[in-house]
Amino acid sequence: MSKVLIIGAGGVGGVVAHKCAGAPEVFREICMASRTLAKCERIRDQLPRSIDIARVDADNPAEVVALIKTHRPRLVMNMALPYQDLSIMEACLATGVDYLDTANYEPPDEARFCYKWQWDYHEQFKELGLMALLGCGFDPGVTNVFCAYALKHHFDEIHHVDIMDCNAGDHGHPFATNFNPEINIREITQRGRYWENGQWHETEPLSEHKTFDFPGIGPREMYLLYHEELESLVKHLPGLKRIRFWMTFGQEYLTHLRVLQNVGMTRIDPVDYEGNKIVPLKFLKTVLPEPSSLGENYHGKTNIGCMLEGIKDGRPRKVYIYNICDHAECYREVKAQAVSYTTGVPAMIGGMLMLTGVWRGQGVFNVEQFDPDPFMEQLNQCGLPWVEQVLV
Ligand code: NDP
Repeated sequence: MSKVLIIGAGGVGGVVAHKCAGAPEVFREICMASRTLAKCERIRDQLPRSIDIARVDADNPAEVVALIKTHRPRLVMNMALPYQDLSIMEACLATGVDYLDTANYEPPDEARFCYKWQWDYHEQFKELGLMALLGCGFDPGVTNVFCAYALKHHFDEIHHVDIMDCNAGDHGHPFATNFNPEINIREITQRGRYWENGQWHETEPLSEHKTFDFPGIGPREMYLLYHEELESLVKHLPGLKRIRFWMTFGQEYLTHLRVLQNVGMTRIDPVDYEGNKIVPLKFLKTVLPEPSSLGENYHGKTNIGCMLEGIKDGRPRKVYIYNICDHAECYREVKAQAVSYTTGVPAMIGGMLMLTGVWRGQGVFNVEQFDPDPFMEQLNQCGLPWVEQVLV
């Protein structure tokens, strides 16, 4: 029975608020804070029970410290942007509160995400007996748990992992991103990266692709990307020989992206505009649809899962674990599209397991470091049922 502070009132934050509000036996009280108070008000007005709301600029640790001291949560769930990870972690350390997020830190002026900055806080959290759980969305998050579950139940060693993320939904806009546009475009315009035989290999952005027949959706073209869970899974899966991440994109999306890149609209360095400095990608974000606004007319499904190969009792084994999620059903339940839903539900489950002491540790952790079974059980109960197929 605990109070939770959710920071960030966007697409994902809204889902977390809905799902926490639906589990009062764990999340006794909820406070939602974000940069724009009106967004907290909009979410609060949709919920079945009352919550506190507040305005905060989470780039400023002193503001977060003051907010935590006022509301006294046991856990802060960071559903804002990766830029705020370190300032919110600092505020948790200063006030003695646990921390959870869904995306690892990246500096605003450099499109480079990695866990080092947050893993470096391990000793400080440990010394204070606090816990930080990183990357507890779907990918990263559920995909890491799928790997831990496969290792526990199906394999002696996992050798190859392909994480495959397909969104076959249609939101009706010519171009929109399913989560924060700035973070999304920074991620997919980077060089591709995968790990094989002890080394990282780089590819030109979106140059490697292949077709996969996704259950419940059909064949789709998927593209190799670098994604943050690769970094932690390389560290935590013993015996791994190769791990890659793939995401599907439609031709319409790729054409828009290419044009935006060619005309300079995805640049993250400031340019002079009529005497003012503006960052083109930040400006682009302001004219694109907000992820939280996409749900109403969204239809179609997502399928995200892991194809795993390795050995069990000396024999080859291949297992595929995935979830299918329907945009329209998510909207009916929590007024959000499936990408926000598939991120927000695992965040709520991670928070639930921390607050009930089922997942407990002192320091900074990734989700694959804990027992996957209670998390897998909650996925089935909380709206993200999964399928496992033993193929070999
Ligand atoms: P949105 O852009 O919809 O929401 C972000 C929210 O954070 C907005 O309400 C925004 O406020 C708020 N915010 C931004 N900066 C600050 C700040 N300095 N202080 C306080 N609040 C701030 O994004 P999403 O909800 O789609 O994504 C949220 C997070 O989830 C991102 O970090 C994203 O990377 C992550 N994610 C993780 C996934 C996973 O599977 N692991 C998948 C999808 C997303 P305002 O509107 O006022 O700007």
